[in-house]
Amino acid sequence: MTTRTRFAPSPTGFLHVGGIRTALFAFLVARQAGGQFILRLEDTDKVREVAGSREHLIASLKALHLDYDEGPDIGGPYGPYIQSQRLEHYRQWAQKLIDAGRAYADPYTPEQIQAFRDAAQAEKRAFRYRDHRPNNPPEWDGTMPLRFKAEPKSYTYHDEVMGDVTTSPEVVDDFILIKSDGYPTYNFAHIIDDAEMNITHVIRGQEFISSMPNYLALYEALGLPRPVFAHLPHIMNEQGNKKLGKRDGAKDVLDYIRDGYLPEALDSFIATMGWNDGTEQETFTMNELITKFSLSRVQRSGARFDEKRLLWTNGQFIRSLALDDLAGRVNDFWPDSAAGADEEYRQRVLALVQDRLKTLRDLGGFGYFFAEPEINMELIDSNKQLKKLPEHERRELLETAHHKLATLTDWTPDAIQTRLNELLEITGQKPGILFSLIRIAITWAPFSPQLSDTLALLGRERTLARLERGIAAFSAA
Ligand code: GLU
Repeated sequence: MTTRTRFAPSPTGFLHVGGIRTALFAFLVARQAGGQFILRLEDTDKVREVAGSREHLIASLKALHLDYDEGPDIGGPYGPYIQSQRLEHYRQWAQKLIDAGRAYADPYTPEQIQAFRDAAQAEKRAFRYRDHRPNNPPEWDGTMPLRFKAEPKSYTYHDEVMGDVTTSPEVVDDFILIKSDGYPTYNFAHIIDDAEMNITHVIRGQEFISSMPNYLALYEALGLPRPVFAHLPHIMNEQGNKKLGKRDGAKDVLDYIRDGYLPEALDSFIATMGWNDGTEQETFTMNELITKFSLSRVQRSGARFDEKRLLWTNGQFIRSLALDDLAGRVNDFWPDSAAGADEEYRQRVLALVQDRLKTLRDLGGFGYFFAEPEINMELIDSNKQLKKLPEHERRELLETAHHKLATLTDWTPDAIQTRLNELLEITGQKPGILFSLIRIAITWAPFSPQLSDTLALLGRERTLARLERGIAAFSAA
């Protein structure tokens, strides 16, 4: 049987790392088996629907290279792939259950149901719909909810992540199949769709585990084969003490892309939230993920969302890119001052700073390669060693540096480094003071690549001019 997995989001907002993890794992299982990955939109809860989320979900999957083989925008042999367009399918299956005596119209008003609940609570017993089945249910005309008539029993199933599970008969109850607004519930619709779409693996969040007894009862009543189940543990906040929510930084994955994160870094990071391949390997290319991923190695306990590890992972992926590839991705991230700069010079800047980029956005901090940086004395005042150095000594050090570098004709990183080392001897200063001072006078930025490389790339004229500017700045102070 061809492996077919699906990602079935509800269009209720953006996708954060948790949603993408579910999609990614389903994608990997399908790709590994040479099967198909399907996108299905579960839009039967019209109250929770958020305008624009359908497009947003699709854009997010595409941005992370999670290409699906069938879906709402591309069609496929089992469409439509939007639940609100499949109402007739659900009605037909519901009719089968009615005919088999396994579904009934629920005649109660919300107030009556509340009264049943209150009575159960007063008697300290669990409230169950199946204890209140009407003796003569009305014929179902679509204006009342249609309820499943459950037969309480124990079920056993295997979960690829959670292991073998046995459920208690107590928890099986009469749940709603079709609501009074004509839309099916998730509980009913997903089972019909998964069966009609020949889905072999249901991969979703652990919040659905508690409903498994009801689902198993429904597969049984409908005579449908059970798919393989895999319930993924929650993603926890950084402290690991509660489920990741928007307040703990669960942001839209498209925002990460806008902030200069690479899709492959996000995929690797998200895959390793709760999964590893049994070795120490920390980052994985998509091809490695497709080869190595297995549901059985997904951990059962909650996975921690560690944004610092995401940043580190992104830096690793940026480093590993071929320069041309990187160049093709940074168009939107150059500092304004780079506009109009020579293409070859830009490439050289990129090659030099590549290892220092944690996100593509960091490229914006290297404007000093293109334009005169603004003098910022804060950088001196906040430097523990430089702030203690008297003003005239700062100036004298820069004058000596200017003098020494002005006579250098072979303007290469090695020759510059040799001169810088000689400067250390002449001045008797520590690199932490001398080199930091020169670096700040040249870049007026908190970080820069290796000093000799930076000066080599800026060129002799610009280096000397900036040193002069630094000298003047310290004289004025
Ligand atoms: N529509 C469900 C949700 O958004 C999907 C659950 C499933 O994958 O079956 O949570």
